[in-house]
Amino acid sequence: MNKKERYRHFVEYFSKHSPNAVTELHYGSPFELLVAVILSAQCTDKRINQVTPALFERFPTPQALAASTVDEVFNYIRSVSYPNNKAKHLVGMAQMLVQDFKGEVPAGLDNLQKLPGVGRKTANVIASVVFATPAIAVDTHVFRVANRIGLTSNARTPLAVEKQLMAHLPKDVIGIAHHWLILHGRYICVARRPKCEICPLTWFCRYYERNNTETALLKAEAIKIKKAKDMKKKNVLNKISRELKKRSVDKDI
Ligand code: SF4
Repeated sequence: MNKKERYRHFVEYFSKHSPNAVTELHYGSPFELLVAVILSAQCTDKRINQVTPALFERFPTPQALAASTVDEVFNYIRSVSYPNNKAKHLVGMAQMLVQDFKGEVPAGLDNLQKLPGVGRKTANVIASVVFATPAIAVDTHVFRVANRIGLTSNARTPLAVEKQLMAHLPKDVIGIAHHWLILHGRYICVARRPKCEICPLTWFCRYYERNNTETALLKAEAIKIKKAKDMKKKNVLNKISRELKKRSVDKDI
């Protein structure tokens, strides 16, 4: 299957089964989304959703946050990852919003990336979710899942993944495709051991295709060695068995 076909199947599947995918972060305004996305770096959305209600209540506007201190903000976010840095970023971000952007979250990627704590990924999320700009934010899930499915090839950096996805995805699904990839990576195509046994994408997934082909070849080799009763190859057989066990597919050899 070529890349074009994989993209087609990917878009068709998720358009049909997940047409309303959205971020799992809770927010009520562009400012709150910006705060939540800054906080979510290297942390789970679940954890962020636990701390933001109190944070948003105390700092409902950029002006309120800009007038606060890093120490005070730290107390509200101490349970998230890197709370020191994130507290500094949040206060700095709010101050810049007030001073340079009239207290509004700016639309353009360049302006967004001037804000403390906002890198390309965060800027893309805001551009896409708030301003409906065709942009795709590449986090760890998007990076991994796009690569496994075969939507990207030899893409070694988030920017390379972003460029390939932007080049191949139809414009009207670029925004939502980010959520498709994140949610699939969070619940099924997980990092350590993808749950291929329950995944509906196996029939067009490159990782699954390769893994299964290799598994079939290993099984065939093991059967050949067993039939030949070639004791010299016992070590090879053990190695194959260990590998197949790791893949949880060694029951029938
Ligand atoms: S088949 Fe496996 S590797 Fe491919 S997308 Fe599904 S879970 Fe991920």
